Order: sequence, then C-alpha cells, then structure tokens
Amino acid sequence: MAVALGLFPRYCASSSGSVADNDLVLIHGSRSGNFGNPTEGIGTVRYCWNPVNQASYNHLIDYNGTVYELTGYRAASWHAAYLNARAWAICLAQPTVNDAITDAQYSALRWMMQEYHDRFGVPLVHIKSENGRGFIEHRETAQGMGHGKSDVGYRLDWDRLLGPGNG
Ligand SMILES: [Zn+2]
Repeated sequence: MAVALGLFPRYCASSSGSVADNDLVLIHGSRSGNFGNPTEGIGTVRYCWNPVNQASYNHLIDYNGTVYELTGYRAASWHAAYLNARAWAICLAQPTVNDAITDAQYSALRWMMQEYHDRFGVPLVHIKSENGRGFIEHRETAQGMGHGKSDVGYRLDWDRLLGPGNG
C-alpha cells in the first residue's frame, strides 16, 4: 500500500535524527488552503521534497488512500518544532479544516495506526496531551495550540478510527 518516493528532508537536531524509540504519533492535515484541491496529496509531497521549506512527514495519506512514505518509520520528520525529535507524523491530504476525510483515508489511517502499534508499540488510543503515549491531532498538542494550528479538526471522527471493524 505504501509508495516510497525516496529521500525527503529530515529533521536532525539529535545525533541520530531517529524517532524509533518514541511512542507518540501526530496526525496532521496538509492545509494548502485551497478547498477541494484535486492535487493536494501530490502537491504536499512535492512541497516536502524541497529542503528549503523545512517541512516533511513520516507518511502522507492521499484522498484515495495511497500512502506516501516520506521520511518513513526510522527518520524524524520536520512537522512540529520541538516535537520533531520525539514524535512521528502522519499527514492527511486535507486542504482546509472543512474538507472531509475520505473513506479511503480512514481505511489507510487505521492501517497506518496499526502499523505504528505493531512495529513500535504505540498504544491505539486518542490522547489529548503531547506528554502521553498514543495518537493525537496536531491542534491538540501544546506546540500546535501555541502556533494556532487547526489540523486535523472536526472532520476527523476518532470513534470511527478507533471503533471495531470499520474503516
Ligand atoms: Zn500540522
């Protein structure tokens, strides 16, 4: 399911630039600001590919459920300032806070969350503090609040994400 596209800019404040020992995953929205933007996914990938932007994610999920592997599981991405060194980032293609999360994105995100759980033991829970262990929206972190981040927002249904047998 994942599509590897090569090397992306990595956050490397620490010696390793690795987040392999962490247990926190931030969920982002891509937020070009262009409602309904048909090329939001690949446009964000291209944006992340340019080191000048100092932006990247570990994985990005397009509208159709395609998972783009950017920095991947083992390298820190450039997504939330001081949290870069201790949290992974999954970005949903979502141009604005009002763009819906697609059925395919829910399925792919559930799959990704299970991968992070199976590979690294990240608890399959929605947490509301960046100091906890599990999954959290960018806007729910102190870092995100401090910078007025709205992603992912009301369109993300956590009951659907964490509920049994759907996706
Ligand atoms: Zn974000």
